[in-house]
Amino acid sequence: MDLHHWLGRAVDTHAAWADGHGPRPGHPALAVDDEALSTAFAELAGRLGTSYPFFHPRYAGQMLKPPHPVAVTGYLAAMLVNPNNHALDGGPATSALEEEVVAALATMVGFPGDHLGHLTGGGTVANLEALFVARETHPGKGIAYSAESHYTHARMCHLLGVEGHAVPTDDRGRMDVAALERLLDGGRIGTVVVTTGTTGLGAVDPVHRVLDLTEPAGVRVHVDAAYGGFFALLADEVPHGTPLVDPAPWRALRRCDSVVVDPHKHGMQPYGCGAVLFRDPSVQRFYRHDSPYTYFTSSRPHLGEISLECSRAGASAAALWLTLRLFPLTRDGLGEVVAAGRRTALRWAERIAASPHLDLFQPPELDIVTYHPRVNPPSLKRITAASEHVLRAGMRGGQEDPVYVSTARIGADAFAARRGDAVVDAEETAVLRSVLMKPEAEPYLDRLHGRVEELASAACRDGELP
Ligand SMILES: *Cc1c(COP(=O)(O)O)cnc(C)c1O
Repeated sequence: MDLHHWLGRAVDTHAAWADGHGPRPGHPALAVDDEALSTAFAELAGRLGTSYPFFHPRYAGQMLKPPHPVAVTGYLAAMLVNPNNHALDGGPATSALEEEVVAALATMVGFPGDHLGHLTGGGTVANLEALFVARETHPGKGIAYSAESHYTHARMCHLLGVEGHAVPTDDRGRMDVAALERLLDGGRIGTVVVTTGTTGLGAVDPVHRVLDLTEPAGVRVHVDAAYGGFFALLADEVPHGTPLVDPAPWRALRRCDSVVVDPHKHGMQPYGCGAVLFRDPSVQRFYRHDSPYTYFTSSRPHLGEISLECSRAGASAAALWLTLRLFPLTRDGLGEVVAAGRRTALRWAERIAASPHLDLFQPPELDIVTYHPRVNPPSLKRITAASEHVLRAGMRGGQEDPVYVSTARIGADAFAARRGDAVVDAEETAVLRSVLMKPEAEPYLDRLHGRVEELASAACRDGELP
C-alpha cells in the first residue's frame, strides 16, 4: 500500500466534494507564505525526529505503535471535512459510521443487537462512563477491581464518590477469586471490574469464575478490555491443537454488563479512539440531558445524548470503519494481527526461559513479556539495577543497534510469589517489560532476543550491580 497515493486520494476526494459546492471561499487572514511554512515545518520535523521509533520492532517497550496506513487514510479523508460526532447536526455521515463500528465491536464481545455503545476519546473516559452507569444502577454500593487493574479505576471511584476496593491477585497477577468471594460476602460491593489483559503484565482475570459469584448476587460486572479486547478474536479458535488464548474468560464477556475496548491500542487506530459498550440499552436513561445548542436534526438519539464527552472527532469513526472493512473483526482479519503478537510472545518466553542471561518473570498470557537479567542470587536490588541497565544501555545502543524496552515495578511479595529463592532486600523490584503488539516483531524476534541477551549479560558483567 502506497501511503502517498492514498493520502493524495483522500485530499482529491475532499477537493472534488468541496468543488461540488461551487468556487471555494477564502480570506487573506488565512493566507500562509510557503517559505514561512517551510521553515516552521522543518523545525517541527526536527522536533518530531527525537521520538522513539515506535514503528520499528526494535521498539519493544510500551503499548505504542503507529496507526495502520488504512486508518490514516480514512482519518485524513474525514478530518478534512472535520465532522463532530457529538450530534447528528455535526456529523451525520460519520455518526452512521460510528454506529456500524460500535455494532461490530459489540458483536465481537457477544453482546445482542440492541446493545448501547459509542466511541470515546480513549479507555479512560470509556471506563469512567461504565463506572458512572454502575454507580447509578447500584447506588450506595462499592466497586471492586483487582490490585493489578489500571490505576484509573481507583481514581474514577474517587471522582464519582464511590468506595473502591482493591482485590488481591494470584501469583500470575489475576484477580484472586477466593478473596473476591470474601469481599462480596460483606454485601458492600455493587460492581466488580474485571480486566482482560492488565496493562502491566497482560494478565487476564477469570471472568467466567467471577460471574459465577456475581450473577446469583445481582452484582454488576464491568470488563476493562481496553488493552486486551481484540484478543477475543482468538478465543473461538479450535482447529488443530491448543488455542492461542484460554477461551473461557473471552467467551464469558457476553454475560457481563459493560465492556471497554480501545481501538487505539490493538485496533491500529490513531489516538483518540476508545469504546464503551453496554449490554442493556436502557442504561441510556442515566445519560439523559438536554442541549439548547444541538440535537435538532433527528429524533433518533444523537451520540452526544448517550455519552459524557461532547465534541469528538468523526474522523475516528471513519478511520476505524475503513480499517474494519480491510481487517474485519474475525480470526483471519484483525485476529491475525493480534495472533502474530501472541505467537511472538510465546516464542520469546521460550527463548528467555532457555537463556543463560535472562529469567522469565511469568509466562505471558497475551502479548506482554516480563523478564529480567539473570542475577545470582536473585536479589531485588540487583535485579532492579540490572534491569535499569538494560533499559538505559539499550536506548543508548549507538546509532547501529538500539533496542527499546520498558520496566515494570513489582512489589516484593508479588516477586517472591513467583520466585521462592528471591532475596528480599527491597520493597519492590523492576523487571523488564515488552509489549509485542506489532506483527513485524515476529520475523525480528531473533535479533531482538539476541540484543536483549547481550545487554543483560553486560549488565551483570560490568560490575554495575550493587
Ligand atoms: C490503556 C488502558 C486504560 C486507559 O486507556 P487510555 O486509552 O489510555 O485512556 C485503561 N485500562 C487498561 C486495562 C488499559 O490498558
